[in-house]
Amino acid sequence: MAALRRLRQCHSTGIAITNFHTSSRASAKQHYKMLVLGGGSGGISMSARMKRMMGAENVAVVEPSEMHYYQPIWTLVGAGAKTVASSGRPTASVMPSGVKWVKSKVQEINPDKNTVCTDDGTEISYEYLIVALGLQLHYERIKGLPEGFEHPKIGSNYSVQTVEKTWKALQNFKEGNAVFTFPNTPVKCAGAPQKIMYLSDAFLRKTGKRAKANVIYNTSLPVLFGIKKYADTLWDIVKHRDLQVNLRQNLIEVRADKQEAVFENLDKPGETKVIEYEMLHVTPPMGPNLVIKGSPLADEAGWLDVNKDNLQHKRYPNVFGIGDCTNLPTAKTGAAVAAQTAILNRTISKVLKNEKPDKIYDGYTSCPLVTSYNTVILAEFDYNGQPLETFPINQAKERRLMYHMKADVMPHLYWHGLLRGLWGGPGPYRKLLHLGMK
Ligand SMILES: Cc1cc2nc3c(=O)[nH]c(=O)nc-3n(C[C@H](O)[C@H](O)[C@H](O)COP(=O)(O)OP(=O)(O)OC[C@H]3O[C@@H](n4cnc5c(N)ncnc54)[C@H](O)[C@@H]3O)c2cc1C
Repeated sequence: MAALRRLRQCHSTGIAITNFHTSSRASAKQHYKMLVLGGGSGGISMSARMKRMMGAENVAVVEPSEMHYYQPIWTLVGAGAKTVASSGRPTASVMPSGVKWVKSKVQEINPDKNTVCTDDGTEISYEYLIVALGLQLHYERIKGLPEGFEHPKIGSNYSVQTVEKTWKALQNFKEGNAVFTFPNTPVKCAGAPQKIMYLSDAFLRKTGKRAKANVIYNTSLPVLFGIKKYADTLWDIVKHRDLQVNLRQNLIEVRADKQEAVFENLDKPGETKVIEYEMLHVTPPMGPNLVIKGSPLADEAGWLDVNKDNLQHKRYPNVFGIGDCTNLPTAKTGAAVAAQTAILNRTISKVLKNEKPDKIYDGYTSCPLVTSYNTVILAEFDYNGQPLETFPINQAKERRLMYHMKADVMPHLYWHGLLRGLWGGPGPYRKLLHLGMK
């Protein structure tokens, strides 16, 4: 009923508000050749590429946020190594010039009619659609959250509202348990929940508080990291640094007033354990974007149902997907988005010519596992969980060089390469550095 009501509310307003990026709440032109949903990593980089392919006047992006964030740097913000201000730029500054910015929220997608409906009731029609809506955070699925964040000693690097609380909790740590969690759902950047543990451990050592701290990583997963090559090194690190890892432990409640976290043992449902904390870092449960989940574009689990080779929708050939919102069976990261932009660009150029997509995505994804304030293990792998490393060195080793890649080189590549549609991942460099052998 609610959906029907919203559909009826969809209308064309005929009011045009334009500026440099022709941003609009309600634009006179309600039809675009290429409509991009979401102006995050995937949406902005694809709109830059689509502008080159078909001209800015044919491309529109629907994105409600005034600010665009480079989320991977929040790991370092939570540990005090970067500022939150350095992670964001106005959306207007990253929107490709001339491309229409529809400053609204997508409310409904109707692929049978080739239209979307926005929260202000506007209907926009399209010839081709790129869905880049990211995933949804679900702090509310943990009892006591999100309101628990109003108390001190708790933070979460996963949101711009809570990332600085992590750093505050770490700075104010005196003695007791420093607890880090990993939820019982798919997540974006599966390494981030433990990166902040390594950084916190390093900070507590630097400030002479480590002897008074128990550092605990409670994860829902049955493993420390999904790819054995890197997991082996990580197990060595946790043993060497006396970090306690508890597998199959799922955070279900936070009693922030008492500084207590409640975990369920996933192997013995109903069995719970309460841990008192001096610091708690929460990685929230995550799930598909609800707009996609409620549309015919979703698979059974609610993710955008795309062909894993070419990113074209499985049932609607004029619809494409990229990034965290899709059901591509690889780890959800910005690095994966970068590789996907090159594939999707090629797929769309072929479809526009009525030809068959010919470039195949290998599932490339990457996770710079920050293990201290100056070391990183650069995990890179494909759909099969096989390492797909860019450099001809063993990347499972902790390296200073990789920390600089993470902290300095990658942000630059993001703002000036990926978002401008100029960086499609390290594939060509990997080939070169491995003399064409990989
Ligand atoms: C703490 C943290 C650490 C990370 N570390 C790394 C790392 O080291 N390396 C790495 O590669 N990746 C990392 N990532 C993951 C990376 O940031 C994401 O995988 C990447 O941003 C996904 O891009 P996306 O375009 O799919 O989604 P997003 O960039 O999240 O963009 C989705 C966009 O859709 C918009 N949107 C949502 N709903 C609607 C709607 N209804 N209507 C219109 N617009 C909507 C949102 O406002 C947003 O702008 C990290 C993420 C976090 C949070």
